[in-house]
Amino acid sequence: MEQEKQLVAAQRTFFYTGQTKSIEYRIRALQQLRQGIEKYQQRILDALRADLNKSETEAYGSEIRIVLGELDFALEHLEEWATPKPVPTNSAIPDGTSLIYPEPYGVALIIAPWNYPFQLAFGPLIGAIAAGNCAIIKPSELTPAVSRLTYDLIHEMFPSEYLAVMEGEVETSTALLKEKFDYIFFTGSTGVGRIVMKAAAEHLTPVTLELGGKSPVIVHQDADLKLAAQRIVRGKFLNAGQTCVAPDYLLIHEDVHDKFLELIGAEIQDKFGDDVMKNADFPHVVNARNFDRLSVLLQDGKAMIGGRSERDQLLIEPTVLGEVDWKSPVMQEEIFGPILPVFKYADLNPMLDEIVRRPKPLALYLFTQDEDLQNQVLNQVSFGGGCINDTLSHMTSHYLPFGGVGESGMGSYHGQQSFDVFSHHKSILKRSE
Ligand code: NAD
Repeated sequence: MEQEKQLVAAQRTFFYTGQTKSIEYRIRALQQLRQGIEKYQQRILDALRADLNKSETEAYGSEIRIVLGELDFALEHLEEWATPKPVPTNSAIPDGTSLIYPEPYGVALIIAPWNYPFQLAFGPLIGAIAAGNCAIIKPSELTPAVSRLTYDLIHEMFPSEYLAVMEGEVETSTALLKEKFDYIFFTGSTGVGRIVMKAAAEHLTPVTLELGGKSPVIVHQDADLKLAAQRIVRGKFLNAGQTCVAPDYLLIHEDVHDKFLELIGAEIQDKFGDDVMKNADFPHVVNARNFDRLSVLLQDGKAMIGGRSERDQLLIEPTVLGEVDWKSPVMQEEIFGPILPVFKYADLNPMLDEIVRRPKPLALYLFTQDEDLQNQVLNQVSFGGGCINDTLSHMTSHYLPFGGVGESGMGSYHGQQSFDVFSHHKSILKRSE
């Protein structure tokens, strides 16, 4: 506890020197971060292999490339984002001019999860640096190799009074949350999100909560089925389904159900080989506790595709479950693993009603060419963000703020929104005399 207190105090003292407010300082820090990531690239890839068995291609594409893309975008636009913006003034004050000044909050805390342990620690950090804050990262203890390299990279490149990493388990998080931060950016489960928000309330610290939930994917009868199968298999089984925006369950029009499951089966085989259990590059479930949780869900309904698992290796093969209903155990919690329950529908409306009554999803995916249906779903269902005729890719755009709503989170980031979320926007009205 003493250590956490001292670190926060040291960062606050450093923040008061005003150094982090200079644009040149922030740009230099982002450039240094880029150099650090380049220097540590092989270690990042090795750590993601050690912690989750991610292949180099998957680890680079879904973690390092996304972070570097965000970093370069911030470097390109930082001056423009940080420049005070003139806005109109009410006619009642004819000699007035109005400006909005973005300013850093101060000392930020970033708490990261284990599923994309590199991306979800360094992505928010880019926003914190760009906006001129000091920051402490608390990585997940469930991915120890990434946690260690995060510590080594940050402490090699930066003084700890500016940027620091505190490794540890729940106790470390709890001790950090007792301290007063000026901003808290949390990525993780909805349950822990509640704990974080309560702790933040003690100090009236603003928070962003990037949480999870059950994200539906809908395949309508007019969809391009082959394309939908490719994109759903990619989105669902990336990182063995341990992706916050992975499609959690599938709603499929009854006319195309059988054909579509055939295509899903073929796509799984094409992507992961004849026997996924022998594919050395298929990521494993993070730990035995999650494996056991998923093994229970695997007993639900009937495995139409897959269904095998291997506890010694923490492996579960891509599995499609039929014969489930809304009350099934697999429909009561975020699956967060390679299991896809499937519902058939003749009429989508009762399905949409059910989605609307449940906690708001982090993502929703809809495959159809029918624009009326696209508009109906977008109007009717509240969710964080999503795609039409694709999965996951909304979160790779610098121009689409990424975040949840309701129980899937609050606030968003990526692109300019990462700068804005770590900035207070100070409104100033100036009169000539
Ligand atoms: P988690 O909530 O268990 O842990 C996240 C972080 O919080 C870790 O660093 C952990 O040490 C810390 N933590 C755990 N318990 C705590 C407590 N009691 N008090 C304070 N801190 C605590 O989440 P996880 O298992 O690492 O990640 C999986 C969850 O995260 C899923 O629900 C997933 O959907 C969600 N997620 C969301 C996003 C998003 O961007 N919205 C991204 C990735 C993961």
